[in-house]
Amino acid sequence: MPSAARGTARPAASDPHPAADGTPLVLAGAGVVLPTGIAADGELVVDGARIAAAAPHNAPVVDLSGHWVVPGFVDLHNHGGGGASFTSGTVEEVLRGIRTHRLHGTTTLVASTVTGDMDFLTYRAGLLSELAEQGEIAGIHFEGPFISPCRKGAHSEALLRDPQPADVRKLIDAARGRARMLTLATELPGGIDSVRLLVEHGVIAAVGHTDATYEQTVQAIDAGATVATHLFNAMPALGHRAPGPVAALLEDERVTVELINDGTHLHPAVLELAFRHAGADRVAFITDAMDAAGFGDGRYLLGPLEVEVSEGVARLVEGGSIAGSTLTQDRAFKRAVTVDRLPVEDVVRALSANPARLLGMDDRIGSLEPGKDADLVVLDAHFDLKGVMRRGEWVLDPRLG
Ligand SMILES: [Zn+2]
Repeated sequence: MPSAARGTARPAASDPHPAADGTPLVLAGAGVVLPTGIAADGELVVDGARIAAAAPHNAPVVDLSGHWVVPGFVDLHNHGGGGASFTSGTVEEVLRGIRTHRLHGTTTLVASTVTGDMDFLTYRAGLLSELAEQGEIAGIHFEGPFISPCRKGAHSEALLRDPQPADVRKLIDAARGRARMLTLATELPGGIDSVRLLVEHGVIAAVGHTDATYEQTVQAIDAGATVATHLFNAMPALGHRAPGPVAALLEDERVTVELINDGTHLHPAVLELAFRHAGADRVAFITDAMDAAGFGDGRYLLGPLEVEVSEGVARLVEGGSIAGSTLTQDRAFKRAVTVDRLPVEDVVRALSANPARLLGMDDRIGSLEPGKDADLVVLDAHFDLKGVMRRGEWVLDPRLG
């Protein structure tokens, strides 16, 4: 049985509740995590879709005593949820997946595709770019097909190809300005030229599903790669004589490392090691979620491959590789604070501020500051999610229990 935390049975939130039909609203009494630190018994004013500096005298007050208010979460790497896949679902299904993650606090989401053939991926890029234009997603992350057959994880080997810049260019063009990130194995033929091409087009080059050496990874970073796709997963392990990509990505201050904090993809000790080494400003907690996130156990398809989800862990039916996660960012938050014992302000950086900055959206999102979008999450004292506001509207109203 799926745990309650993964369930989506939140009937009260089926339609958005405006904060206060255009009038300012004051969220009061909570521990508010601001860029400057935690304001105990803090106050946050929402005016329309934005955070405001001050409220008029008689603005309605929502009492959030005993709760936390943190910025809405930003997910750089997410393949689906609510039973829907961003790689293969219809528009309605994709919207359901986005909504599922919003109900778990992800107010900004980059939709990730998995390996498919080039024609299919260009078609998907077109479909997802329209949802980006409508503001439903922050853009597209292509994971594959330019990845290493040695580290393919849950990607279809028959459809993998070398990162030839002409092919990379096809995906960038098909996304019509909405490609945000592309994961590639930079050691493959054309890899370094592709990194340069991505950087030229303002697309984040992410090193991942790679069999590169330490030296090859340094070369990719020097060429402009700035993200490690789920560090540790789908790459050679850290070796004392062969440090591999992990050491290169972890040590370089230009790189943000994605970590999947679900307790399955990384041992807590490794997560802590990476977090402390990279520092709180260089980590992005991602979900790498697949369709079963916020939905439940069962059989699913990831691209063309069959996946069995059991007790929340997704594995390929054939071979048993871990096939994405069923994580949601509210659970990643709670785990980071209660299991990994990371400071709340650091967790907020990894879930909101850092990914927002990486996407170049930190003028609008990623922290609770006047003028920014009113994207926020309300957590109770146990760090369980109680409310979500996106652009000033309650996606999940904490007053409805
Ligand atoms: Zn992924």
